[in-house]
Amino acid sequence: MSAASISLDDLTVTYERRPAVHHISGCFDAGSLTAIVGPNGAGKSTLIKTIAGTLKPAAGRVDRGNLALRNLGYLPQAAEIDRSFPLNVVDTVLMGAWRSIGAFRGVSREQARQAQEALIAVGLEGFEDRSVGSLSSGQFQRVLFARLLMQNASVILLDEPFTAIDARTTQDLLKLIRDWHGQGRTVIAVLHDIEQVRKHFPNTLLMAREAIAWGDTATVLHADNLRRARNMAEYWSDDATACDLNEEQPS
Ligand code: ADP
Ligand code: MG
Repeated sequence: MSAASISLDDLTVTYERRPAVHHISGCFDAGSLTAIVGPNGAGKSTLIKTIAGTLKPAAGRVDRGNLALRNLGYLPQAAEIDRSFPLNVVDTVLMGAWRSIGAFRGVSREQARQAQEALIAVGLEGFEDRSVGSLSSGQFQRVLFARLLMQNASVILLDEPFTAIDARTTQDLLKLIRDWHGQGRTVIAVLHDIEQVRKHFPNTLLMAREAIAWGDTATVLHADNLRRARNMAEYWSDDATACDLNEEQPS
């Protein structure tokens, strides 16, 4: 796996000139496993989309080195995914390889085998012909992880992969993330469960539009930083719903 780092250089991203991500600089090192944490509206999804190349910076830049976008896997927040389309499980997984399959070429025997292996890896053997609309949210998230396995990307971006997902699926998919990390891929995940971050993610970016702290997880998730993130959020949102940022470090 050729490792790839992602650098942010004074990155600002706006919606109608209002900044959602403000002057963030830093680096996701090649092969690192990083959680992005922050209150609702902190700009986490905006940052992930900008790294994925689907949003353009208003100022500053994202430096992906020589990483091709086909080597970047992106899993959007569940709310942004339409699963009403009539696709079955195995075709959804094969879409992970669409850039190498192409619009008019068929699926090779090798690709069919890889899709099968990916379904086994996520515990969905036998689900090949099920329509994605008929799956539970946990099963559907397993399909999307199988699609990422199929894509074999060197950088993987996950936006709230475990929100509204059952505990068993969360544990199984966390293991895949650990495996990706072990294989030297660069993995960045937006998460809400602070204890999960402390346990499984060596690095954290805590943000509230700006970066509040970025580095070693134990240092970043210090109570003082969490309090700062919460205070900053109060300035820009009256309707921010409570999240695990209220959980402070055990003293
Ligand atoms: P998070 O993922 O941390 O909850 P987002 O990146 O989704 O935060 O949103 C950051 C801010 O940008 C919020 O104030 C949100 O309302 C705003 N925002 C997000 N998407 C859009 C959009 N498409 N158009 C206008 N404003 C948006
Ligand atoms: Mg979001």
